[in-house]
Amino acid sequence: MADRYAVIGNPVGHSQSPRIHALFAEQCRQAMDYSALLAPLDAFVAAARQFASDGGRGANVTVPFKEEAYRLADTLTPRAKAARAVNTLSFEQGWIAGDNTDGAGLIRDLTVNRHRVIHGKRVLLLGAGGAARGVVLPLLAEQPALLAIANRDSEKAARLAEDFPGTRASGFADLAGQSFDLVINATSAGLSGAELPLPAGIFAADSLAYEMLYGRETPFMTRARDAGAAVADGLGMLVEQAAEAFLIWRGMRPDTAPILAALKNA
Ligand code: NDP
Repeated sequence: MADRYAVIGNPVGHSQSPRIHALFAEQCRQAMDYSALLAPLDAFVAAARQFASDGGRGANVTVPFKEEAYRLADTLTPRAKAARAVNTLSFEQGWIAGDNTDGAGLIRDLTVNRHRVIHGKRVLLLGAGGAARGVVLPLLAEQPALLAIANRDSEKAARLAEDFPGTRASGFADLAGQSFDLVINATSAGLSGAELPLPAGIFAADSLAYEMLYGRETPFMTRARDAGAAVADGLGMLVEQAAEAFLIWRGMRPDTAPILAALKNA
């Protein structure tokens, strides 16, 4: 019998996770069945508990349930606690363990796949929602020279920065006159094709603009390209956070390079 896993979300039909985990399982010769589970917006906890009692061994959690998953978990890793959001659940005998692998996925995509050094660099994180919160601690662990957080609602950025000493918060307009080596877009503005009101000059020479969204060209990416920055989308982060979840569940890390290449070609 294959061990059962799922990604739980709403919507969830677009999720690449079943494909990614099927490729991981094949590569690592693991008997796994990984499906997409649509939970009603008001019934995430019931859906997760039902999946566990039906024999599910673990689940990834996506929009909009990561905070509910955080509250559902009986135990949390330090990175999940810092993120206040959970994207990976493990169903043990009688209890549920919660982790957050998004930040680790981003760092691995930046440092291993893209050979970028974060240590000593000036980093700008755009956004103050769940995705932004999840990557602050792993980014700080890389010891950048500066981690600035800017959000449309600057008070939200300030509240996020308060939880992470060493970061600096602002609105977009306050970034005028500053430049950064790495600019990470953790806003969802690209989903609606909205342009971020970023001042000119924020992309330093040899900078990287990292868009967490994937599968489309966003105004942020176009803007960065026009300013001469290198541009990356979030597909690598997606694959790497999945590999980290696979490691938690199966005790082995898949080789992500061929899987990322297959997804890029698809
Ligand atoms: P949230 O809804 O929690 O946060 C949304 C953020 O985007 C807020 O900071 C919000 O600002 C900002 N925002 C939304 N619209 C605009 C706009 N038009 N202009 C400026 N700012 C805007 O979303 P998440 O944090 O969960 O996700 C953010 C993005 O990251 C999504 O696109 C998601 O797909 C992506 N993501 C990618 C992952 C990957 O593996 N590649 C993993 C996780 C997320 P305000 O507070 O002012 O409303």
